[in-house]
Amino acid sequence: MFIDSHCHINFPELAARLPEIFGKMQENNVSHALCVSVDLPDFPQVLALAEQYPNVYASVGVHPDYEETPEPDVGQLLQLSQHPKIVAIGETGLDYYRLEGDLEWQRERFRTHIRASRASGKPLIIHTRSASEDTIRIMREEGAGTDAGGAGGVMHCFTESLQVAEAAMEMGFYISFSGIVTFKSAKELQAVARAVPLERMLIETDSPYLAPVPFRGKMNEPGLVRHVGEFLASLKEVPLETLAEQTSANFFNLFKIAR
Ligand SMILES: [Zn+2]
Ligand SMILES: [Zn+2]
Repeated sequence: MFIDSHCHINFPELAARLPEIFGKMQENNVSHALCVSVDLPDFPQVLALAEQYPNVYASVGVHPDYEETPEPDVGQLLQLSQHPKIVAIGETGLDYYRLEGDLEWQRERFRTHIRASRASGKPLIIHTRSASEDTIRIMREEGAGTDAGGAGGVMHCFTESLQVAEAAMEMGFYISFSGIVTFKSAKELQAVARAVPLERMLIETDSPYLAPVPFRGKMNEPGLVRHVGEFLASLKEVPLETLAEQTSANFFNLFKIAR
């Protein structure tokens, strides 16, 4: 059994065909999916999916790429995260690739999420792109990690160096690999995945984006996380069952979900 630890099935292109998507999950032995919030206006839909489907969990947060959107405060995130199916804070983090200029607001928003995570005890889902130094620095400054009394979390859709992975793992974080790791060109990332212990690893689709090989370029969906799992099992030379079992156990452990 596989688990998609990060998807956006509330996005219109996926939300329009949910029965098909859940059918495909079943077909591919994908038991659970975590639907990740990207802004507050969309949160009610994300929550509704988690309430409707027993095997869907959700998070609350505002993505760093969303500039023109209501800014959350700690109290608001805390309040919205009280629901039993809201298992994480995010996605949050820093993205210096998509946006330019003075991004102090991004860093402030990231700090707000870390404070909400510490206060709620719910782990963080962190997005970082072209900003790993500031990401790690702010995680340390705000005590995001379990080493500093924080709730820890996951570095999602990981594409950074092993050094960044190690810094995050030292803070008790998990590293999540998406379909990107299956791309032929992703040699450096594959070397990182070889070095990240199974006990620290999650798998995800980040659908509707980033479909894994052999579906690269097509629309992604949670059922395809199986291909990420298969690729990683052969890369790490472990039985598929071992990888599936360990990444699923990691998911339940991190998000404190009873099996
Ligand atoms: Zn992301
Ligand atoms: Zn995402």
